[in-house]
Parts: sequence; C-alpha cells; structure tokens
Amino acid sequence: MPVPDEEAFRAEVRGWLAANLAGDFAPLVGSGGPGREHEFVPERMAWERLLGDSGWIGLGWPEADGGRGLPWGHEVIFYEEYARAGAPARVGHIGEQLLGPTLLMFGTTEQRGRFLPGILAGTELWCQGYSEPGAGSDLAAVSTRARLEAGQWHLDGQKVWTSLAQFADWCFVLARSDPAAERHRGLSYLLVPMRQPGVDVRPIVQLTGTSEFNEVFFDDARAAAADIVGAPGDGWRVAMGTLAVERGVSTLGQQLGFQREFEAVLATARATGAIDDPDIGARIVEAWAGLEVMRYTALAMLERPAGAAQGTEPNVNKLIWAQWHQRLGELAVDVAGAAATLAGPGYGLDNAQRLFLYTRADTIYGGSNEIQRNLIAERGLGLPREPR
Ligand SMILES: Cc1cc2nc3c(=O)[nH]c(=O)nc-3n(C[C@H](O)[C@H](O)[C@H](O)COP(=O)(O)OP(=O)(O)OC[C@H]3O[C@@H](n4cnc5c(N)ncnc54)[C@H](O)[C@@H]3O)c2cc1C
Repeated sequence: MPVPDEEAFRAEVRGWLAANLAGDFAPLVGSGGPGREHEFVPERMAWERLLGDSGWIGLGWPEADGGRGLPWGHEVIFYEEYARAGAPARVGHIGEQLLGPTLLMFGTTEQRGRFLPGILAGTELWCQGYSEPGAGSDLAAVSTRARLEAGQWHLDGQKVWTSLAQFADWCFVLARSDPAAERHRGLSYLLVPMRQPGVDVRPIVQLTGTSEFNEVFFDDARAAAADIVGAPGDGWRVAMGTLAVERGVSTLGQQLGFQREFEAVLATARATGAIDDPDIGARIVEAWAGLEVMRYTALAMLERPAGAAQGTEPNVNKLIWAQWHQRLGELAVDVAGAAATLAGPGYGLDNAQRLFLYTRADTIYGGSNEIQRNLIAERGLGLPREPR
C-alpha cells in the first residue's frame, strides 16, 4: 500500500475520531486513564474492536503480518490525534505495544499467525506476567515454575502487580523451566491462556481506590507446548526484548497525553488565580519546558529508521518522563490548594487528585528510577558495577 501523505493522514485520523467518538462512544471521551481503569470497560473493549476493524491497530507492523507498514511518523500522528481527541485509554495496549513487537522480533511464523490477528482485531487482550513477590527489580529471581509434561506446559507460582489481568485473555509469563540452570539461563517466555481453572486473578486496590493491577496465581495452569517464545531457557533474552520496547518508543503515546493533563492544570491555575503565586508560576514554566524537551527528544528519535531507540536512551527517557509526570501530579494538587486534601463522597477523586496519586507509580513500573540510574551508570557511562 502506498504511504499516505502525512497531512492527509492526520486529517483522516482526526475525521475518523470525530465521527466515531460520537453516539454510543461519546461518553468514552477522557475515560479510562490512570486511576480510572474501571470506567466503561465493556464499552472500551468494543472501542478496541472498532479500532481493529478500522485498521488503527498495528499501524507500523509489517503488512505481511497484518499491519499497515506505515512509517513511525504516521504512528506519532495517530497518537497525537488520539490524545487530542481525548479518546479513551486503550485496554489492548499491552498486546499491541509489548507482546506484538516481541512476537515480530522473536516469534515463529506460526506464533505470529496465531496471535497477531487477535491483537490487530482488538479481540484478544493481554497482560504481562513478569513481577513476583520476590522478583521485581531483580527480575531474574523469578520463581514461578514451568514444566513440560505430556505435551503441555504446567505452571505453578504467583505473579503480582499484573496490570489489566482481570480483563486479559492471555498472559505472557516469565517462568523458571530449568531450576538447575544459572538464574538468567533457566527461564522461559510462555503464552498462557487466562481463562482456565488453574489461573486465579485477585485485583489489588490501589491508592486511587481502583484496581489497575492484580495478583495472579497459577495452580497447575496449562499452556500449549508450542506457545513458548524463543527456546526453553532463552526467556531472559526475549523478556529483555519486551522491556526495551516498554521503556522506549511505546511510551510515546502516553507522553502525548501529558499535554492534555498539563493544559488542564494550567487552566485551573488561571481560573483560580493560583498562577499569580510565583512558586506555582515557576513550576508551570518548568513543566512546559519539560514537555518541550520530551517532544524534541521524540522528534529526534523520528530521524532514525523505525524510530529506534539507542543504547541507554530508553532508560534516560523513562527517567525523564516518570519524574516529569510525578511533578505534574504534585503541581496539580498544589494548584488546587486545600480542596485537594478532601475526597468526595465514596472516595470520589477529581482529576488532580487522581493524577497526584497515580503518578506515585510512574517512578516504579517499567523499572524504578533507581534501576534506570544503575543501568545508565553501568551500561552507558561505564561506571563501576554496584556490589551485588
Ligand atoms: C502501576 C504499576 C503497574 C505494574 N504493572 C506490571 C505488569 O503489568 N506486569 C508486571 O510484571 N509488573 C508490573 N508492575 C511491577 C513493576 O515492574 C515492579 O513494581 C518494579 O519492577 C519494581 O519491583 P518491586 O515492586 O518488586 O520493588 P523492589 O524491586 O522490591 O524495589 C523496592 C525499592 O528498592 C529499590 N531497589 C531495588 N533494587 C535496587 C538496586 N539494585 N539498586 C538501587 N535500588 C534498588 C527500587 O528502586 C525500589 O525503590 C507494575 C507496577 C506498578 C506500580
């Protein structure tokens, strides 16, 4: 397919969003973001299918794998327009942004043929089963066991902080398949169906009063023998491939939503007069400058083939946006003033309160700030490794 001109493509995306965020989908505008994951879930699942039907999922994936093979710049345009229209937070982003690219890198032809169509159609939702009670930053300590028996993988163990597991059809699980091997070597990357008797999902209530993430228990859960990405024992390499995407380009869409949040904070500061406070004014300017830095960093990445991140760039980006977003949350409640200390009836939170509470998580998930700094120091700057 010929690549459409960028401005024509922008007009097409904008027109489609305006036409479709209407009628039954009109209430979805602005829904489902941080601390609001519980909103309109069946409707957002239907929206996901509509996006799939209309060809808006997998824009950059190769055409041979069912994508549209569009350049990265077109994906950016789509994200920009999506954020500008206030379209709902995606329930399918873990499949599209994490598992899909991983299968494109490491999956067999059969796996790509089996799993990519469900992601592209918005009909199969995924979650990420990495973290465990004893394995977060130290991910190689994963102890969920997987053994191959009678033509099936059998899994036993516990995952935790598993985002959107309560809605997911599938989970990509990092599990220990060879307990005797050295810790990074004995892991496998398995594709596990969530809707089966051996899987128990228990939502965790977060500071926001809602549940984005969950505990997931595997008690002789099953996966097909063929549903392993990479070879048995090669799961670490595949898992790191997924993490590189997670810390890199896939955060771009999320960052474009930051502009809207910033504008809301600015509008409140103007409306309440908080903007006249010199401290608030200075922090607003700083936040705006941070947004511009993130935008130019993204544009610089666009210059490269496929927007590929290099070296420790994903770690630097993660560190920058996580801190920026957390400070925006603090600014939002400071702009709101004393009113921000009170929740409404039934722990009803407004947008500033949600932003403040949710952004506490930004410096933890996808690798904490401390871990990003370690990686930048050791891999980027060649500083001595920390004692282990
Ligand atoms: C909102 C949210 C969503 C998440 N979604 C998912 C998901 O979908 N799937 C999934 O698998 N996981 C998910 N996670 C888990 C996330 O990846 C982990 O929380 C993260 O990796 C940190 O691990 P931990 O919580 O075990 O903390 P720990 O690793 O126990 O760390 C505790 C503290 O110690 C610090 N620390 C640890 N090691 C070092 C070190 N070597 N040097 C310096 N400081 C160190 C950390 O920075 C942190 O401050 C999610 C987390 C959050 C908050």
